[in-house]
Amino acid sequence: MNIKNIGEQKHIALIAHDNRKNDLLKWVKKHTSLLSRHFLCGTGTTAKMIATETLLPVRAYESGPLGGDQQISAAIVDGKVDFMVFFWDPLTSQPHDPDVKALLRIAVLYDIPVAMNVSTADFLLKSSMMEKEYIR
Ligand code: PGA
Repeated sequence: MNIKNIGEQKHIALIAHDNRKNDLLKWVKKHTSLLSRHFLCGTGTTAKMIATETLLPVRAYESGPLGGDQQISAAIVDGKVDFMVFFWDPLTSQPHDPDVKALLRIAVLYDIPVAMNVSTADFLLKSSMMEKEYIR
């Protein structure tokens, strides 16, 4: 595993299960100007929703259940995603639960910052480390 820098500009993946999409959209709207300094991507439906509602550029991978989670896992391995906001649904099981588990495993293994709820996402985005390079 290569040591990779997380640059000053982060490559942020945005993902939300259906019951959490509104929470993520609200969070993105609250932080649009901070987020606009970074590169954004996301699973298909989430990315398109955020791009449409905020006009932020968000690269869309496939929809999560169609392999988007796996594509983001691979992007983490390749060093193309180094920060993740993933609002998964704690009350509903998903058809692609194995992919979700794999994505969370890869994120921990590659030591990227991950927020899975609004308060953590707020704390992370407001961290002074968002402005700096970080060696992981
Ligand atoms: P979606 O996928 O953004 O395409 O809805 C999210 C997910 O289920 O991982």
